[in-house]
Amino acid sequence: MARMKDHDTLQRFLFDGTDIRGEITSLTSSYRNILNLNNYPTPIALLFGEFLVAASLIGASLKQAGIVTVQATGNGPVTAIMAECTQHQGIRGIVRGNFENIDIDTLSGSPDIAELLGSATLAITIEPQKGERYQGIVEMVSSKLSDCLEHYFQQSAQLHTKIKLAVSPKSASGILIQQMPLTQSAEQADLHWQHLSTLMDTLKNSEQLQLSHNDQLYRLFHEDNVRTFESQHVSFFCSCSLERTERALVSLGSDELLETCKEQGLVIITCQFCDQEYRFDENSINAIFPPSDDLLH
Ligand SMILES: [Zn+2]
Repeated sequence: MARMKDHDTLQRFLFDGTDIRGEITSLTSSYRNILNLNNYPTPIALLFGEFLVAASLIGASLKQAGIVTVQATGNGPVTAIMAECTQHQGIRGIVRGNFENIDIDTLSGSPDIAELLGSATLAITIEPQKGERYQGIVEMVSSKLSDCLEHYFQQSAQLHTKIKLAVSPKSASGILIQQMPLTQSAEQADLHWQHLSTLMDTLKNSEQLQLSHNDQLYRLFHEDNVRTFESQHVSFFCSCSLERTERALVSLGSDELLETCKEQGLVIITCQFCDQEYRFDENSINAIFPPSDDLLH
């Protein structure tokens, strides 16, 4: 009898006796909380779910404090879509575009990249809190995000990676397996890879959305010595703050801000990820710009 599915958790695992590791994640409230902030048509919400799952899976490989961003830009109804994940599995994201002409009835199965993003590029950015930012960019060569991600890892790191994503309007789930640097012969590693990725191909979308992580792993790999690690909670987290908003305002210059303040009484900045409002009056704007600035003009 299948146990209840996992909610908002990510689990790492590896296969003893091989150089292959993996992660499995399921988003429910975290996904719905983010969707509730926006009013995306269903096909957009589903594509967004895939991006959030991808961010969670890739974010799990962060070894230190930092943020992973998975984003795509295209020339279709969706012009930009991005999802971020911190090393503590805090996720947020946003979709930009013109969704008026999206036919919400044509959707069948997984979201279609070509239909929604047109011709698009995929960028993955890893931003450690300390150290250098890394970004890799590839063309989106398939209409499935999972294929595009596999292609990304092959191109950027020559790493065999297999990813399966499954989304519904209520939940989103994903599983990834990846080859690590080899400690075995290439021949042996190839055999392991073929075996495990063939098994993963048999996982159905409905199983991903309905089965617990343990049940999915058992169903796929019960003969393959899977070792699971402690699970991590995934939640909606926005990294905006008053301080960061103030820093962003500095680039606009005090003249423009004070002007707006005079016209409208207040400058209101709304976070595009979480709808949090930051309000600034004349005094608080003056406080952002240190007096020494005046001497330079
Ligand atoms: Zn925010």
